[in-house]
Amino acid sequence: MRKLKVLILADQKDRGLLDGVGQNGNWDILWYLDEYKNLHKKIPEIKKLAVENHIDLLMYARNDQIGERYSIAKVTRQTRLGYSSFSGIDENYAVQMAECFRDFLNCPADWAVKSNQAAPAGNRKQAAGQPKNEYTYSLIFDTEQIACVKYGLPRLLNLLDRYQFKATFFVTNLLNTVYPKLGGLLWQAGHEVGIHGLYHEYLSGRDRREQAETIKEMLEDLGVEITGANFMGRMDQNTIEALAQNGLCYFTYDAIFHHRRLAYAKTSLLPRLLKTATGKVWAIPVTVSTYGYSLFTVKNMIRTSIRQGKKEQYPHFNILCHPFRDGNLRNLGNTEKLLEFLNGLGYRAVPVNETLPDLSLQPGDDRSYWEGSINIFNPKRVAVAWPATRDDLFGILTENILAIYKVLRKGRNVY
Ligand SMILES: [Zn+2]
Repeated sequence: MRKLKVLILADQKDRGLLDGVGQNGNWDILWYLDEYKNLHKKIPEIKKLAVENHIDLLMYARNDQIGERYSIAKVTRQTRLGYSSFSGIDENYAVQMAECFRDFLNCPADWAVKSNQAAPAGNRKQAAGQPKNEYTYSLIFDTEQIACVKYGLPRLLNLLDRYQFKATFFVTNLLNTVYPKLGGLLWQAGHEVGIHGLYHEYLSGRDRREQAETIKEMLEDLGVEITGANFMGRMDQNTIEALAQNGLCYFTYDAIFHHRRLAYAKTSLLPRLLKTATGKVWAIPVTVSTYGYSLFTVKNMIRTSIRQGKKEQYPHFNILCHPFRDGNLRNLGNTEKLLEFLNGLGYRAVPVNETLPDLSLQPGDDRSYWEGSINIFNPKRVAVAWPATRDDLFGILTENILAIYKVLRKGRNVY
């Protein structure tokens, strides 16, 4: 990647932890210091600064996962700039922040994933021997923040190893630069690697040629075999064309089973084959997400997915996770419980690319074939649905209390 222009958004009080640097061998750095709790009120100012200085991406010193909740998602959405963060993810986040910042500056060539680091406590159940049935699911990890790799990833790889699960990691090229050969390392460990943006930028709104070139750069830079992309919330019709042009087989999209008033919205689990001018691409729905949801909700989403799969005779669903969230010490116990729950179901965990149907399918040959374009950018959600399953029924009270809590907290997600 060329040398990027980075606007660091840091809090005044963290200044002492971060060595003030303007120029650096790896990045062109510009600083913006303010109180983090006011950040969302300074969006026009940040935007102006970014435009005037041709900034490529925002680098947050903190993120939403720490104690108090600042709305950096709003800053990202409204400036429409790519982003990463060197925020800590655990209680000692200030120490971690300083260490992640140092890694960001130096891009250490000799870094290594220490998988014995902070192995989670708890019972050490081994993975079940033979899968009990033919159903499968994929664990998807969006990897875009520095502490993701430094702290979250070793713990999660450790857990995945214990259950012998193979997962799919969507990795930004920025992280592959800060931690050289990150993509290759995950690939060598037997996991699937997919693209997630050069630096989590918005592709939507750019013309097709520019998008195709950007995607080509992502693929070349990661340098491993790649078949899929995750640009949820950051892509448009041109992106689908650009993916096909680059020979990619699939992309994931948001079909998450949000709980709506009385029941879970039940979107389809079926992959959709989209025909473009240059080829065919599978649109793969993600129906379960851990980000911002309690373990109770996540389990209900999984059970709902399983029932939906039986109804559609399609025995696979996808779960979206984030190492900075699921790999922090506050959530790690729940992540372990989730993997135990999945292991107990007897389903097999496989990377997304192992579930892809044959691209050469002809119309009419298969139930999952949709010709032409469908609106996958705003998945149709059930506005009001009557409870149809046990989880709908049991979810009503809990989910609605959680929904009210979320509104009060004004939390909004970025993927
Ligand atoms: Zn992401």
